[in-house]
Amino acid sequence: MADQFDAVVIGGGPGGYNAAIRLGQLGLKAACIDRRGTFGGTCLNIGCIPSKALLHTSHLFEEASKEFAKLGIKADVSLDLPAMMGHKDKVVGELTKGVEFLLRKNKAEGVVGDARIVSPGKVEVKAKDGNVRTLETKNIIVATGSDVSLLPGVSIDEQQIVSSTGALALKSVPKRMLVVGGGYIGLELGSVWRRLGSEVTVVEFLDRITPGLDGEIAKQFQRILTRQGMKFQLSTKVVGVEKKKGALLVTVEPAAGGERQTLETDIMLVSIGRRPFVDQLGLDKVGVVLDTRGRVATDAHFATNIAGIWAIGDCREGPMLAHKAEDEAVACAERIAGKAGHVNYDAIPAVVYTAPEVASVGKTEEELKAAAVAYKVGKFPFTANARAKTIAATEGFVKIIADAKSDRVFGVHIMGAEAGNLIAEAALAIEFGASSEDIGRTSHAHPTLSEAVRQAAMGVEGWTMQM
Ligand SMILES: Cc1cc2nc3c(=O)[nH]c(=O)nc-3n(C[C@H](O)[C@H](O)[C@H](O)COP(=O)(O)OP(=O)(O)OC[C@H]3O[C@@H](n4cnc5c(N)ncnc54)[C@H](O)[C@@H]3O)c2cc1C
Repeated sequence: MADQFDAVVIGGGPGGYNAAIRLGQLGLKAACIDRRGTFGGTCLNIGCIPSKALLHTSHLFEEASKEFAKLGIKADVSLDLPAMMGHKDKVVGELTKGVEFLLRKNKAEGVVGDARIVSPGKVEVKAKDGNVRTLETKNIIVATGSDVSLLPGVSIDEQQIVSSTGALALKSVPKRMLVVGGGYIGLELGSVWRRLGSEVTVVEFLDRITPGLDGEIAKQFQRILTRQGMKFQLSTKVVGVEKKKGALLVTVEPAAGGERQTLETDIMLVSIGRRPFVDQLGLDKVGVVLDTRGRVATDAHFATNIAGIWAIGDCREGPMLAHKAEDEAVACAERIAGKAGHVNYDAIPAVVYTAPEVASVGKTEEELKAAAVAYKVGKFPFTANARAKTIAATEGFVKIIADAKSDRVFGVHIMGAEAGNLIAEAALAIEFGASSEDIGRTSHAHPTLSEAVRQAAMGVEGWTMQM
């Protein structure tokens, strides 16, 4: 007889494993299947975690090489790349093991293998040794995530033409790296290798980097990255690449068409985005509808058109972010348990973990202008923040946008050290429907970077005090 479950989750990433944990907490019998062999999905294995490990260590390397002397610290610095990669691999290993522990702790069964939906209520899992196990279940949650988007005509070998996965595991520092795509993954990984010594050029199709982020921040961000040594070719597309004598000859042309140019590089990182991954899952066989972009179509509560089949995370609409997948996992599990789980998409932060970091939550000025909504803005630069001065990290600013009438906070955009941590306060403010005055009148410890958030909030009503 097949094993019986209340819910079977396909995919062991932040969407899948958090769904299984929450289902277990709610007293439901859950299984979480992943083909990878280690749990944690893209995020823990080849995404958020290894990239942040390398961003941290490469930042320390650059600081020690270039900045320590200014602070009175003399150091003879050299790079041990295998050890740096070793730290990254150790962190990944510990965290993926941690997910296995959390699944066990919450009585959810972790299953390794390729999952296929045979019919609503029935999932087959094929193990590496060819054994097939059938799981019967009242609910199936599809949390199969995303995969790298490919550039037409360019095949990734993960040696010279790499995706983010290859860029996280290069054996040596390339002399030159061409990054295709000026989104957060390209800028983060480009920063890692630039700090370690590569000449990095970013080729971006649009006329700006980090599409979707506040335009004012994006402009200043690009200026700072340029000052750090990264080169940019905007409004440009890659049309071909050829391998020649160990190098790559990359043909580019203006996005609008025009004269072609050849750029020579050693490594090309393709980071033009990610696509939802639902291959060989059997969704078509059971009649689950996809949207025009290949994502699993669901209602606002994660239910697909087939009763008992749900979808969360990167494989459905919305920002492809680990915490968005996690938020949906909690809400979906609660729905299955008969509760009222929901996700507030206006309060999901996004962070670029470069130096300075860029973080944002809520609406941008561009979005509000397009929607003809009246708003007020308060800003505060880190050059005027005491803590930023003490830690010698004064680049960037905080920008708070609030409703012109009610003062309710619409959006917060921060570029600066620790922006990724500072944005948590802003997400909470938006979640609670706070006004800029609420933030401005909340006590913030001195001296902290968070005081810049308070001062920017004061600025919305024109009473910034420390500038
Ligand atoms: C380089 C990089 C850096 C990133 N950095 C960040 C960051 O800093 N912050 C952030 O929020 N997000 C980041 N992301 C994005 C983040 O990793 C994803 O948004 C997140 O992992 C999505 O979670 P998920 O559970 O939907 O899918 P995934 O994490 O992709 O997990 C899906 C899992 O399903 C498995 N699977 C698929 N099909 C099957 C099947 N048929 N049977 C069995 N298993 C299957 C896959 O093997 C995979 O392990 C980054 C991504 C990359 C690539």
